[in-house]
This record gives sequence, C-alpha cells and structure tokens, in this order.
Amino acid sequence: MALYGRVERPECIACGLCQMLAPALFDYDQAGIAYYKPDRNTGTEPLNDQATIDFRLAYQRCPTHAIKRSDQPFNARPFSETGKA
Ligand code: SF4
Repeated sequence: MALYGRVERPECIACGLCQMLAPALFDYDQAGIAYYKPDRNTGTEPLNDQATIDFRLAYQRCPTHAIKRSDQPFNARPFSETGKA
C-alpha cells in the first residue's frame, strides 16, 4: 500500500528533529518550520521503501504530531517561502 506524508505546518514547533532523523525527507523554511521535501509538502508523492523507514521514525518522534501520513495523496498546496502553505 502506498504511503504519503506531509507536515501540518501550523502544528510544527521548529524543534529540528525530523530533519535530523530523515534529512532526505524534511527541510525547514527561514523560520525553522518544517516541510516535506520530496513534493514540497503537497503529500502527493508516495514514499519508497527506504524513505518509508526514515519517515516512520520521524513520524513517531515528532513531539507535536505535526507529521501526517495517509494511504491516499493529501493534494495540499505546495510549500512556498513566501506563502503560508
Ligand atoms: S519533528 Fe515535528 S515539530 Fe519538530 S521540526 Fe519536525 S515537524 Fe516540526
């Protein structure tokens, strides 16, 4: 089953943990708020097997549960440094 991920950015407290655990999957904006890097936080690109292992670790450790997962694409607005998505 496919797995999709994204960060619900208003719930992120910029702790830095997800990027440390899964640097290929998470990055930060200028304020330190995380976004899901492979698809610019739209949640539309399914994780491959190795990425799924890293993703699950970050998902489980995120202190605010801002990292979301689904077996369906999220189809969210893409992250932009100048926007709020
Ligand atoms: S682990 Fe969670 S709270 Fe911390 S930076 Fe990542 S998404 Fe934000």
